[in-house]
Amino acid sequence: VDVDDGRVVWSGPAEKAPPRPDKSIHHLRGLLMPGMVNIHAHTPMVLLRAAGEGLPVDRWLREVMWPREGRLVGEDVRWAMTLGAGELLSHGITTSVEMYFLGAEVAEAASNAGLRCFVTAPFIEDPQLSRLGTWQDQLEAAVALRERFRDHHLITVGLGPHSAYAMSEEALLTIAKRAVAEDMLIHIHVAEGQHEGDGVMAAHGCTVPAYLERIGMLEARVLAAHSVWLTDEDIALFTSKGVGVAHCPSSNGKHASGIARVVEMRSAGIPVGIATDGPASDNRLDLFEGMRAAIRLARLRAQDAGALGPADAIRMVTREAAAAIGRPDLGSLEAGCRADMILVDLDRPELSPVVEPSDLLTHLVWSGTPDFIDTVWVEGRKVVSQGACLTVDTATAVAEVTTRAKRLAEG
Ligand SMILES: [Zn+2]
Repeated sequence: VDVDDGRVVWSGPAEKAPPRPDKSIHHLRGLLMPGMVNIHAHTPMVLLRAAGEGLPVDRWLREVMWPREGRLVGEDVRWAMTLGAGELLSHGITTSVEMYFLGAEVAEAASNAGLRCFVTAPFIEDPQLSRLGTWQDQLEAAVALRERFRDHHLITVGLGPHSAYAMSEEALLTIAKRAVAEDMLIHIHVAEGQHEGDGVMAAHGCTVPAYLERIGMLEARVLAAHSVWLTDEDIALFTSKGVGVAHCPSSNGKHASGIARVVEMRSAGIPVGIATDGPASDNRLDLFEGMRAAIRLARLRAQDAGALGPADAIRMVTREAAAAIGRPDLGSLEAGCRADMILVDLDRPELSPVVEPSDLLTHLVWSGTPDFIDTVWVEGRKVVSQGACLTVDTATAVAEVTTRAKRLAEG
């Protein structure tokens, strides 16, 4: 792989590589692959990891998460995103699509850590979160943040209306119009729980995707997180509108939200990426675990051991995840792509035996763990070496997050 100025300029077999000066050539031992692209996360929720164990999503949010999040200050988010960025990078995740409060702190912490990040701060109308400002204030802040980071090499700013159930129609309409006018990605939770759409159905007589279409939101570029309870018509609508889906199998399992129709969505042409969700929902920021959860749930749902395979899962954490956010320059090491790369240590007994060439990929998905990640580069810059993040002081970040987590819990 030849890298220049943060981009891959050539990739292929070593014997066909164009000539380079010897001192610029590094011989790597292991498997070099694209960095993983995590398209739905609330990484600063490392502050809330373990809180609300055993609750379904609606009670977990309103009774445990939102009361604590209503007490957040900027430094909480900055330290939490710093700690989480180190965890993501050392786990081989080079891009994360983040929905979290106080987007400026998320963006600054991610860029300081060298993590590629989509920053889509959430808009939620709930009195417990009133300290964070009205949705109108937050919308203006997001558009201003977008201007500030407009040409940044790592940070992309979008809009994060939390969900149809947490926002008024007026807010959703305004945000949809603004997203189209500003050409910003909308990142929204859709049909996560079985009864999430009941309020929309009672008020408007349609499903959440149909409602979002009716109010014009699907005219924007939309990334729909979870998308568990979709009808055939919803899937056809997402296909026709080019909506991308973030599939969160570990989180959906933890909260008993349901099993998404991944095979049907992908067959219909919807790009589906596998995502961690927040570390208070999946507890680990681990896409190896995510790949296995996605395969197991898809096979159980279809009662078919061939329903989703290792090659599908790898695509869904790289190239297909990148497609779901409209970024063909991510998730691949072809010439022209960003030099976001991970080196996997293959000297592991769990990755043997390799009898057929495809066995390596099968081992990687079924047996791989973040411990196998040796080196990580983002935009050509080395950010992890021998499994340790070079850009984050982990011990200090753990101490800061622990102190702040206790304060948020105490109220
Ligand atoms: Zn989420």
